[in-house]
Amino acid sequence: MYEKKDNKPSEAASRLTALSELGEFGLIDRLTRNVVIHHPETLKGIGDDAAVIATGDKVLLFSTDLLVEGIHFDLTYMPFRHLGYKAAVVNISDIAAMNGIPRQMTVSLAVSSRFSAEALDELYAGILMACNKYKVDLVGGDTSSNVKGLTISVSIIGDAQKEEVVYRSGAGAGDLLCVTGDLGSAYIGLLILEREKSVFRADPNMQPELTGFDYQIGRQLRPEARTDIRNLLIGLGVKPTSMIDISDGLASEILHICKQSAVGCKLFEGKIPIDPYTTELAKEYKIIPSVAALSGGEDYELLFTVKQEDYEKIRDVGGISIIGHMTAASEGKYMITPDGKNVPLSAQGWDGMRGK
Ligand code: ADP
Ligand code: MG
Repeated sequence: MYEKKDNKPSEAASRLTALSELGEFGLIDRLTRNVVIHHPETLKGIGDDAAVIATGDKVLLFSTDLLVEGIHFDLTYMPFRHLGYKAAVVNISDIAAMNGIPRQMTVSLAVSSRFSAEALDELYAGILMACNKYKVDLVGGDTSSNVKGLTISVSIIGDAQKEEVVYRSGAGAGDLLCVTGDLGSAYIGLLILEREKSVFRADPNMQPELTGFDYQIGRQLRPEARTDIRNLLIGLGVKPTSMIDISDGLASEILHICKQSAVGCKLFEGKIPIDPYTTELAKEYKIIPSVAALSGGEDYELLFTVKQEDYEKIRDVGGISIIGHMTAASEGKYMITPDGKNVPLSAQGWDGMRGK
């Protein structure tokens, strides 16, 4: 048989793994599979909202996040001041998710010549606004030019007593699944901003129709970190068994807790807290409201589990909703709809509900 010799490169190319095959978490797993921990002080490395490092009687919490123009933010509708605020807040949120106190942060920028110093002044005004509000010290960073666009990398240090730290891995079967605040509004805010984007583009002086959507747009452009929950829970005498912040969407975060804790879950769809007007707007966008909460992300609320015996302490607390419970891993990971159907929980939320 005649063998084509000129197709070697494409054969080689076909053996390479496309990043899309792995997904973000698959890629992280692959890149970090050979990581060796050399120091006993590294109590927790990769796999939680922050690394945990022993330092005397306290532990240090360390986390970093990258924001890339065109991927994480769109300057068509994201004011620089809000962008700076959000860049700081998403890092502070990771410390809150470990039940720690945020302390110091560094900010690194790669910026193209398209930007003015005044624009970056605004960015820093936003970063400092968050630093002042959350009492975080900006202690350094790095600055570089960039071929194109703006990239912001923020790293943060926090601390806690060793026994205060809450990991993603501590949930047990029977624990109650709780969430702070309400979910899905940041995603609806994003949809509104995307809808009005053509107006921003056509004429920068033209005001798009954003009035009346303050809550949803505020949740998207200027989120807050739930650093208040630590003290609230201390006051209630409750220590969560596991915790994570909601950056990617409720479904994805529940699955992280399930995986890290080796448990299953039952999430009750009807218990997911959603702002009433967000519910209305979701329907206008032909999205089932719970899908906005499950898959939308960027709400930066805290998802945590508590022992069943803490039920009385937590059930009537304003701003905390009990949305389900953890089960044995063998029972699977399900969402129960109001009419009693069991739907397997997937990281994309419940695709079957979309558009109905
Ligand atoms: P979060 O959403 O809380 O910021 P991520 O999902 O980004 O967390 O990351 C999950 C875990 O993987 C974290 O422990 C993070 O530090 C780690 N991680 C992410 N990207 C990398 C990378 N490129 N190399 C090493 N560790 C990484
Ligand atoms: Mg996180």
